[in-house]
Amino acid sequence: MPIRRSKVLVKWIFENQHKFQTIRCCSSSLRYKVLEENTQAHQEHVAPLMSTPDEKPRPQLTPDISFKREDLQVRLAAPYQLIPKPETVELGFGKYFTDHMMKINYHKQLGGWQKPEITPFENLSIHPAAKALHYAIQLFEGLKAYRGVDDKIRLFRPELNMERMNLAAARSGLPTFDGNELIQCISRLIQIDQEWVPHSETSTLYIRPTLIASEATFGIMAPESALLFVIMSPVSAYYKAGGDGAVSIFADPAVVRAFPGGVGNRKVGSNYGPTIEATARAAKLGHQQVLWLFGPNHELTEVGAMNIFMVHINDQGDKQLSTPPLNGLILPGVTRRSIIELASQWEDLTVKEEVITMERVIELNKKGRLLEMFGAGTAVVISPISRVGFLDHDINIPTMKQSQPVFQRVKDTLLAIQYGHLEHPFAKVIS
Ligand SMILES: *Cc1c(COP(=O)(O)O)cnc(C)c1O
Repeated sequence: MPIRRSKVLVKWIFENQHKFQTIRCCSSSLRYKVLEENTQAHQEHVAPLMSTPDEKPRPQLTPDISFKREDLQVRLAAPYQLIPKPETVELGFGKYFTDHMMKINYHKQLGGWQKPEITPFENLSIHPAAKALHYAIQLFEGLKAYRGVDDKIRLFRPELNMERMNLAAARSGLPTFDGNELIQCISRLIQIDQEWVPHSETSTLYIRPTLIASEATFGIMAPESALLFVIMSPVSAYYKAGGDGAVSIFADPAVVRAFPGGVGNRKVGSNYGPTIEATARAAKLGHQQVLWLFGPNHELTEVGAMNIFMVHINDQGDKQLSTPPLNGLILPGVTRRSIIELASQWEDLTVKEEVITMERVIELNKKGRLLEMFGAGTAVVISPISRVGFLDHDINIPTMKQSQPVFQRVKDTLLAIQYGHLEHPFAKVIS
């Protein structure tokens, strides 16, 4: 063989060696002879490999076929793996986790959703290139399991969390699923860890379903593999409030949480990381939470990770409960929706979804018509607000000075439903 031709051949072999089944040339000493001998034998084999890199037929993508509760596989923790349960006073928020967790893999190449599995609580093993880690292609949910006065365990409108989770999944190119199947799987997980649902009406079991893109490629596109997991944590108060139980909030009009066309209305992780700095700055000024404003009129949107409510005397002289409308900037809270639905039936209160501006807040407060402000969400339930810092204003809200505050009535009603004092269709006993 002429030397020139063999050099070209060897170059070709080095460029293509990764496609060979048997040859791997990692050595720096070029074994021309061996390679030349092998070339003849492998060339035939290489050619078809190059044209059809994947001979296996690819299964059709079936994104709307969900995982199923009936396929759930359970691997219980061994007795020595069980974690001692902390006292309810030291629970905090998301510090301790239960003995088990759930995982459901999604692989487009394998036909979509795989079988759900409950396993002992354990670390995840994740590829460093997983899209969730780079582009925040992920989302989460938050709901609670309550141990009622009758010792039965209830979920509060979990179907609304599932609906919201699927909307966030669709927005992020993550696979969707049948929400009812996930509720059934979560119910089984709670049953297994039922002793982790606190025997207390000031604590609950917080449930955190999370869906992440696990595909390990840098392309910014819909992932071909994903992982839905559910972890659970017994929790008490979400954060410390002031002495009277009310919080002080701080509004910096220079920072926005959400914007039109964005994802402020979805529980995606990328909404929360960028709030840390503003929250820390508010804390330095003595405030517990950030009041998120939007636009030139300083519209109130949310407070921390809660929906915001205001009680005032309206222009007709009636007591009115207001909250901003779902205009894309607002997370459609389950608590928010429940408050609106419950309070709409109270005859002494007008309920309205309307834009609230800082100017309006200041004006109502000056006239003595602003009665209460509070935040609402699953984690905190209801958080009364007693003070708002905004530009050079320091606004004192008389929330804690009302004789029969709306926030307390709302809170008592929600808790009564959640802990089974009041039979209500919002609460679902898990069997
Ligand atoms: C989760 C969340 C809420 C509250 O929603 P719930 O369904 O009531 O728990 C409100 N605002 C933000 C930004 C949230 O993330």
